[in-house]
Amino acid sequence: MTESYTITETLDDEVAQSEQRSPHLLEPRPGQSPAAVVARAEQLDLMAVLQASQAISREIVLSRLLEALVRTIVQQSDAQRGMLILARNDELRGAAEARSGPGEVQVVLEDRELSAAMVPVSVILHVWRSRERVLLRDASGRGLFSDDPYLVAVSPTSVLCLPIPGRTEAEIAAVLYLESDPRAGAFTPDKLTAVELLVSQAAISLHNAVLYADLEQAALIVGSSGAVLFRWMPGPELVATYVSDNVAAVLGHRPCDLLSGAVTFSSLVHPDDRERVMGEIAACGAAGRDRFEQEYRLVCGDGRVRWVDDRTAIERDATGRIRHYQSILADVTEKRAADESRRRSEELLRAIVDNTTAIVYAKDAERRILTLNRRFAEVWDIPVADLIGTTGDQALPAEVAELFRANDLKAMAARAPVQMEVTLPQPDGVHTYISLKVPLFDASGVVHGVCGICTDITERVEAEKERERLLREAQEALRIRDEFLSIASHELKTPLTPLRLHLQLLRRHFADPALAAHPKTQSFYKLLEISNHQLERLTKLVDDLLDVSRISAGQLALQLEDVDLSSLASEAAEGFFQEPSSVESRLSLCANEAVVGRWDRFRMEQVVVNLLANAVKYGKGKPITVSVQRRGALAELRVEDHGIGIPREVQDRIFDRFERVVSIRSFGGLGLGLYITRQIIEAHRGTIRVSSAPGQGATFTVELPIDGS
Ligand code: ADP
Repeated sequence: MTESYTITETLDDEVAQSEQRSPHLLEPRPGQSPAAVVARAEQLDLMAVLQASQAISREIVLSRLLEALVRTIVQQSDAQRGMLILARNDELRGAAEARSGPGEVQVVLEDRELSAAMVPVSVILHVWRSRERVLLRDASGRGLFSDDPYLVAVSPTSVLCLPIPGRTEAEIAAVLYLESDPRAGAFTPDKLTAVELLVSQAAISLHNAVLYADLEQAALIVGSSGAVLFRWMPGPELVATYVSDNVAAVLGHRPCDLLSGAVTFSSLVHPDDRERVMGEIAACGAAGRDRFEQEYRLVCGDGRVRWVDDRTAIERDATGRIRHYQSILADVTEKRAADESRRRSEELLRAIVDNTTAIVYAKDAERRILTLNRRFAEVWDIPVADLIGTTGDQALPAEVAELFRANDLKAMAARAPVQMEVTLPQPDGVHTYISLKVPLFDASGVVHGVCGICTDITERVEAEKERERLLREAQEALRIRDEFLSIASHELKTPLTPLRLHLQLLRRHFADPALAAHPKTQSFYKLLEISNHQLERLTKLVDDLLDVSRISAGQLALQLEDVDLSSLASEAAEGFFQEPSSVESRLSLCANEAVVGRWDRFRMEQVVVNLLANAVKYGKGKPITVSVQRRGALAELRVEDHGIGIPREVQDRIFDRFERVVSIRSFGGLGLGLYITRQIIEAHRGTIRVSSAPGQGATFTVELPIDGS
């Protein structure tokens, strides 16, 4: 077996003889039992080595183990210097270094990179890769490592470098490097044996310590994540044999209560979930499965109920019998609440999107449909499933597909919503839509898709068209009416002038004394007066019609002059009341001071007469008051009666053309007087308002700027 003992450089006689005496010492071996080594090592101070080995085996904490290991090996091997190099994640790093000083060994624990100033890197790498031991009896001699910078620089008397095996044959956990100086001399076979023995123990301890350190690390990570670790014994109640420290903080149960069985796992599970959870555990056990996952509620020590996500591994022995359950329980209460609220809002959104009459879809950056609503599928009678994941371009009519494509791309390129009116052919005819395309951005502002909302406005557009048609018709009807009024009023006016002349002639004839004596003259004269009165009425109506057509044509021209509104109102009122008509109402005139402004005399008379005529017509014979006064820069004319009054809700309307509130059978009229009145007043930049209530009479107030228009 000597050939497997890698002695790379010169071995001196002593070592060679020792190999012959104790060939077993030269057997390299990962996995070799320390006892086997010790059994034949007669020359060793076995007690010392065993004690050192035990000291090593007791250490589970990695840092302490490394220190004990390197210190003990350096002591036992009489090395001048030793170094433990850990192999983790395919990398070698110095972990602990020991130096023999006068009377003691000094150890430094430090994680550092390997360097040529520290160790013969070529030797260490060789051991790591070959998993073979290297012993350099005379490190300065010629050989495989003679160019190593460290060996060249330091020239140690002897170098020993060994692999410390890992969990498997193929794995190296660490490399032990020892060197001696002339004072200590070369490594003797006894020392080699001691080192071998200690390395065997080191392999086991190192493995455990690394595992322990990893576990500590894992427990720390899991603990800080808020998850709780449990190990449960199988059985009806599931008693814990391990719990992580954070169980008290997270679940409010003391670890001791759980470990003593005072609180069992089954009692922790919410009563409503217990049957399901226990059933699942039993089923997994029976089915031979090695893990399960479930979500359920746990009752905390303070009575709070928390949802947990349970990931459990089932450990079985060689016969398949369950040894225990290892569980990680993560509190998912908040997550579930958030999920639930997200689910609800998604459902709500879905319901809205699906029940809207608009076509709604969302696409990714390549325009593949991510989601769409029912309406989309209904309109073109394509199953939703056929559209999801496609651009829809193939399934939709070419014209529609092209329009969608162009507008999708437009919105994505513009990085802003794009809205337009589009017409789309559908199986039931062409529809008009308001199409809104909104680009979708991710958190970093990159456009990752587009959302389309097309609202069918076909009915609205049709209604709009119909409304426009009706408006055009109404405007045309009004135009025809105004034209008719204009023609009719002119035509009606034409015969009135000769008629008036003829009546005046007749009147003059009746004034002739020869006729006055005739017995029938009186009655003829009366008939003549009535005819004259009717003629005046007819003239007024025709004049009103003429005025309306003038106003419609924008031809109400004003002849402004200085006018005293008080005397104008007095004269108009007096003239009106002298009419040989059946005016029963008593008139009070209150127009004492002159109120002079620049107005159109004829038109202002028309205003006074119109208001008085209404006061008489609707005044039920009760007193009427006309007043004129100056109010600052305004002249105020008021005509007040105590007649039938006007309901509040129609008071605005009475100033419009042909608007009447009373029935034509009770009161005659065209409904033009107030319209013309207001037009005249507004042409003077004045205002007119009415204050009235049914049965309470009416007061019309006119305000005119003194300086006219
Ligand atoms: P007309 O008197 O020829 O109907 P107007 O334009 O002068 O037309 O008046 C419009 C409507 O206003 C009248 O039909 C009547 O209903 C109401 N109205 C006008 N003046 C009075 C008033 N002094 N008292 C009650 N109602 C009035």
